[in-house]
Amino acid sequence: MRIITAWVRVEVMVKYRVTVDRSACIGCGVAPTVCGKVFMLGTDNGKNRVVPKYEVDGNEDVSVGEIPEELLDCVKTAAESCPASAIKVERID
Ligand code: SF4
Repeated sequence: MRIITAWVRVEVMVKYRVTVDRSACIGCGVAPTVCGKVFMLGTDNGKNRVVPKYEVDGNEDVSVGEIPEELLDCVKTAAESCPASAIKVERID
C-alpha cells in the first residue's frame, strides 16, 4: 500500500474596510502624511479620502476603501492621530 501525504499551504487574504467620515474631517492633512499609500486630500473639498487604488465608494461626505493587511498599521496610526476621529477601520470577514 502506498501512502501519499501532501501539505497544501492556503494563504487567506485578509482585507480591511476603511471609512473616512469626510463631513467630520477638518482637512488637517495628518492622515495623508502618516499614511500616504491609503489617504489623500480630495481635490473636491480638501478633505481626506481613500486613494483611488483602494477606494470602493465615496462622495463629498464619506470615502470607503478596502485595504490589504500590510497597510493596516499605517491606517491605524492615521486613525489614532486624527483630531476629528474621522477614520474607522474594521476587518472584512
Ligand atoms: S487626520 Fe482626520 S481631520 Fe486630519 S485629514 Fe485625516 S481624516 Fe481629516
